Amino acid sequence: MIVVQKYGGSSVGDVERMKRVAERIVGTRNEGHDVVVVVSAMGDTTDELVDMAARINRRPPQRELDILLTAGERISMSLLAMAIDDLGVSARSFTGSQAGIITDTVHGKARILAVTPERVREALDAGHVVIVAGFQGVSRDTHDITTLGRGGSDTTAVALAAALEADACEIYTDVDGVYTADPRIVPAARKVERLSYEEMLELAAQGAKVLQVRSVEFGRNHGVRIHVRSSFNSSEGTWIVPQEDMVEDAIISGVAHDTSEAKVTVVGVPDRPGVAAGMFTALADANINVDMIVQNISSEGRTDISFTLPRGEIDQATELLDARLPEIGAERLIVNPSVAKVSLVGAGMKTHPGVAARMFAALSRAGVNIQMISTSTIRVSVIIDDAKVDDAVRAVHAEFGLGADALIEEQGAG
Ligand code: ASP
Ligand code: MG
Repeated sequence: MIVVQKYGGSSVGDVERMKRVAERIVGTRNEGHDVVVVVSAMGDTTDELVDMAARINRRPPQRELDILLTAGERISMSLLAMAIDDLGVSARSFTGSQAGIITDTVHGKARILAVTPERVREALDAGHVVIVAGFQGVSRDTHDITTLGRGGSDTTAVALAAALEADACEIYTDVDGVYTADPRIVPAARKVERLSYEEMLELAAQGAKVLQVRSVEFGRNHGVRIHVRSSFNSSEGTWIVPQEDMVEDAIISGVAHDTSEAKVTVVGVPDRPGVAAGMFTALADANINVDMIVQNISSEGRTDISFTLPRGEIDQATELLDARLPEIGAERLIVNPSVAKVSLVGAGMKTHPGVAARMFAALSRAGVNIQMISTSTIRVSVIIDDAKVDDAVRAVHAEFGLGADALIEEQGAG
C-alpha cells in the first residue's frame, strides 16, 4: 500500500522537528507501507527568499525567482533524507522535476499538466522511502523550473497521490485539522471531522489557509481522499471526501476570512455591451485573478463596476486599467486596499432558506457594514472594512452556533 504524506514548513521548521518527522515516516514505513513524502521549505524560508530577491531587484525576473524559491524545498528534502538514513532506513530525495511534475510555464503559479513518477516508482520498488520537494515542477515547453504558487506543496502531494494511486494523502500541518473558523479569532472554533471536496474548495478559495485550492481541485478530479492532520500528535484530523461519503450535510461547515484582497472601483463606465468584457479580458490576459465583481445599476448611461483582486496584483491592475480609461470611456479608478472578505460555507445551505438573511442580520448587530456580496449554491461572502474582520467572523460563527460551546449546550439539552 502506498501512502503519500506531506509535511508543511512548520513541521520541519528546525532540525529537532525534522528528526521527529523522520521518526514518524520510519514508523509508517515499519507498518509495511511504501512511503512517499512531500516536503515544504523549512519555516519561513520561502518568505525570506522572496524578501532577499526583492532587495536585489524590485521586480525579479520570474524565471530566476522560481529557481531561487525551489531551493527552500530542496534543502528540506535532502536534510529529511539524511535524517531518515540516520535512523537506518534508506531514503532518496527528488526535485519536482526529477519526480515528473510537469507544468505549464506560468512562473510563480504554474499548473500541473501531467505527473510521470517513473523515478519515484523505481525508488519505491528498490525499497527506499521517497522524498519529493514540494511546490515545484518543470515546464513542458521551456524545460525551465517552475513553482506552483504559495502553499503549492499540498498540490504536489495530492497530484502524486493521484498518479501513484496511493491509498491516502495525508497532509501534516501544525493544526489538528480544518476548523469552523480561525481559532486565533474564535477560540471556541471546532475541528470539523469531514468535509466534501466542494465545501473544502469554497473554504480554501475564501481564505482558509490549511490547503492550497488547487490541491483540493486535484483531489476532487481524481478522487483522492485527503486527511489533514497534525504532525505533533496522532489524533484524527479532518477528512476531505467525495460528497457521496458525507454522512449528513451540516447546514454550515465553517466561516473563512481573507484579508489579502483589495477592492477597485471603475467609476463612470459607459453602460453598453463589450465594456466589461474589454476590461476583464485585459486583466485576464495579464493573469490577474479577479475575484468578486459587482456592477451597480446605471444612471444616465453610466455605471460603476467594482471588483476585488489579490492586493499584490494591485499595481499591475491599476497601471493596466489607467492606461485604458480613455478607451473604456470611464472616469476614474478608486482603489481600496483595506477590505476583508468573510464567507460562510455549507452544503446544507442549498436546502435551507434564510441563511444569507441571518448572516447579514448578525453582521448588522455587530455594527459591520457590507460593501459587496456574492454567493454560490453553498457559500455567502461579503466584503467589509478590514478593521472589522474579527468582529464579523465572531458574529457569524456565533449566529450559526458553530463553536464547541454550542455543541456541548446542544448535547446537554438533548
Ligand atoms: N514553501 C512554499 C510556500 O511557503 C510552498 C509550501 O509550503 O507549500 O508557499
Ligand atoms: Mg500550507
